[in-house]
Amino acid sequence: MQPLHLLGLSRAELTEFVESLDEPAYRARQIFAGLQQRRLHSFAEMTDLPKELRAKLSEHSEVSTLTLESRYLSTDGTRRYLFRTHDKMPVETVFIPEERRDTICFSSQSGCPLQCTFCLTAQLGLLRNLTAGEIVEQIIIALNDAYGVSVKPPRGTNLVGMGAGEPFLNFEALLKAIRVMKEPSGLHIVPNRVTISTAGIVPRIRELATIPDRPHLAVSLAAPTDELRNELMPINRKWPLRELLSACKEFEKSLKPNERFTFEYVMLAGVNDSDEQARQLANLLNRHELRAKVNLIPHNPAEPLPYHPSPVERVELFREILESKGVHAFVRKPRGRDILAACGQLAARSTPHLVAIT
Ligand code: SF4
Repeated sequence: MQPLHLLGLSRAELTEFVESLDEPAYRARQIFAGLQQRRLHSFAEMTDLPKELRAKLSEHSEVSTLTLESRYLSTDGTRRYLFRTHDKMPVETVFIPEERRDTICFSSQSGCPLQCTFCLTAQLGLLRNLTAGEIVEQIIIALNDAYGVSVKPPRGTNLVGMGAGEPFLNFEALLKAIRVMKEPSGLHIVPNRVTISTAGIVPRIRELATIPDRPHLAVSLAAPTDELRNELMPINRKWPLRELLSACKEFEKSLKPNERFTFEYVMLAGVNDSDEQARQLANLLNRHELRAKVNLIPHNPAEPLPYHPSPVERVELFREILESKGVHAFVRKPRGRDILAACGQLAARSTPHLVAIT
């Protein structure tokens, strides 16, 4: 049996575990701070704990389960990591430094069961759900790699659940990880700094809306009509646009005064980027009177996907049409394209033509 992964435990659960080892509860406080605030990755580094306790802890539990397989550094500073879990499943994480804050894009599953045709991860199929500990560990390793163990990041950290996997198909572990990471005595990344992107798992959108301290929501649309969306995102056959948008409308009631939720729209040349499709998209969102913004994401080409990115002028025109119809739209700047770290490019493959820095 796999030892207990302590990174997936809340303060209360860690206290319970420590007490089950006949140790006083205050030790849990020390261990939690060591793991989540100082981001230590072994019991040996927890020198504030007695040696015997460290030995006892390593007998029953572990703090590091992901093995770094490769790490790539983009010319724009983005870093992509490919890890393996204890059972050799691939996990990818992307660290994106920005002027005022850093963003870490984490994976919620190894592979993905959904079959979006513009995404490389889809080709892996679902390998397995990640545990809460494996989700938290991705963030800890990325922060340590960027700033060093125990060093407080100089900027705030935003998290986006947009790596491999459909986060809403691993809902419990996802919410657990978010709860663990918000602890003030740990990583202290509050849900307001977290955005979860879904391909449109309707019941979970409704459920997320009922959670008081919830992360932000982004919904990947990719098409303005059911006909095209069925083709690009087959999950649409289960929950078509009408159902998806009415769940979004429902979700809107849970938005805070300045909060908007986001629709992601990947721009595929000649497939979903015409003027007519921009008008259809604006009409669709306006019909549902949604307080949302649209992020236009230039497609990131990756062999063997059959798509090309829309030209820059096309994307701009598409954006202008949306704006002219009252829909706020932005163009997302691709990051880490040269290291295959951009949206839709995560394929869990080591890329020998790129220079790995470990
Ligand atoms: S786009 Fe997201 S939901 Fe769709 S296949 Fe890729 S990882 Fe899965």
